[in-house]
Amino acid sequence: MLQESVGKVTTKYHTLKTPLTLESGATLAETTIAYECYGSPNTQNIILVCHALTGDAHAAGFHTGDTKPGWWDGIIGPGKALDTNRYCVIATNVIGGCQGSTGPMSIDPATGKMYGITFPVITIRDIIHAEYQFLRELGISGIYAVIGGSMGGMQALQWSVEFPDFVRRVICIASAGYSTPMHIAFSTVGRAAIMSDPDWNNGNYADTGKKPGHGLSLARMLAHITYLSDESMQTKFGRRLQKNTNIGYGFDTEFSVESYLQHQGETFVERFDPNSYLYITRAVDYYDLTKNGNLTEGLAETKAKFLILSVSSDWLYPPYLSQEIVMALTANGREAKYGEIQSPHGHDGFLLENNQLNFLVGQFLTPFTVEDLMTKNPPVICACATIRQAAEVMIGKEINHLAVISEEGQLSGIVTSWDIAKSVAGNHQNLADIMTKEVISVKKTDTLRLAASLLEKYHISALPVVDTKGHVEGMLTSETISFTEVSR
Ligand code: SAM
Repeated sequence: MLQESVGKVTTKYHTLKTPLTLESGATLAETTIAYECYGSPNTQNIILVCHALTGDAHAAGFHTGDTKPGWWDGIIGPGKALDTNRYCVIATNVIGGCQGSTGPMSIDPATGKMYGITFPVITIRDIIHAEYQFLRELGISGIYAVIGGSMGGMQALQWSVEFPDFVRRVICIASAGYSTPMHIAFSTVGRAAIMSDPDWNNGNYADTGKKPGHGLSLARMLAHITYLSDESMQTKFGRRLQKNTNIGYGFDTEFSVESYLQHQGETFVERFDPNSYLYITRAVDYYDLTKNGNLTEGLAETKAKFLILSVSSDWLYPPYLSQEIVMALTANGREAKYGEIQSPHGHDGFLLENNQLNFLVGQFLTPFTVEDLMTKNPPVICACATIRQAAEVMIGKEINHLAVISEEGQLSGIVTSWDIAKSVAGNHQNLADIMTKEVISVKKTDTLRLAASLLEKYHISALPVVDTKGHVEGMLTSETISFTEVSR
């Protein structure tokens, strides 16, 4: 399938019409949501993309002048898993962030000054409620799917709990049903790095002109390690020295991995606000979908269909955390598919393994249908024809199955090479005498899974595809299905 980019995109902004009440009881008087939209605006077929901790609304395509596309460009676009030819994909920036949605860097309408550390503490639930209100105000009354990785996966699951009737499919990648003590521990150290930077100034650094960049950089360096894996670090850096051939017996930056982490820390400071980092990591700490300590109870009210994916080498969100979600959903009778992305890249695998993601997510969102594989407008023959005429058509077109139609043009039978052979043995002349009249047929929108199960159940090798009026619009054979399977 040809996969393309969504091309040039711009970030848009929407300010909610009413104040947002937060889980803590506090209120956000004015809430703006930054978002991007890919594909044709179609309120029926919406997929919402939720970003991870420090992501933004720019998930795909290019901003003017950019050479690098949005962060999930590998799976969003025409022909990709989030197929913009089929779906309207909306990506948002979370509240509490610093990439366009209301957060600590926004102006507090009550004071006319930047919120800074006076911004109210937010939760993953609050992020979802803001987005729900945003989508409702755009005139959207339900979405086809919500997808996200890491903190985005938390949001996707939270959607299914908060608004079970609003979302039909949920894709949660490299995530969990709650934050573990290890997650909270890493966040704690990151926040301590920021808060112990003298420039943090108890969160009031906006007026001092000094950003606690050193602390933020340390927080990012630590967090970045958790996104990689032992194997990926071995492959990427080994024990290589960055500049020198020999070790220097000092504490300057020597190893490639040291230099890499410092670079990651420095570039992060350029694009992220330290207070915002505190708020978002706190939201992740508070994330817990269990009820009475039980995830099954916590997910009891969900109604969506789920795809839960983990990454094989992810030690921050190990596969067992995804498997727990699947077990809890299954215990509630929900349809939950599980897959493990095979990757050496650790947690970051959910942003890198585009081939596996395109296949797994694409199949979940858009399963292959009969229409994808059927032979369109196959030859048909009238029930009034002779067996000889049918045989001539089959030989001429090199086919083993021929749909038989009534004078009104509707499917009335099927004849196969097997039937022709039988007719010779039985000395028949008329097609109507040998054709099978009770035809098993499918619709073009049926899934290939259904078609394959019919072929197996009835020991047949072809299925005429009919429209609502019984006219033959295709033929699906077991050869085509198996050929597709091997050629994929
Ligand atoms: N596997 C071979 C095949 O499908 O032709 C031979 C075995 S099967 C028992 C043969 C019979 O199944 C033939 O009489 C044929 O007309 C019938 N048949 C084939 N496709 C059919 C369909 N979609 N619905 C009903 N009968 C079908």
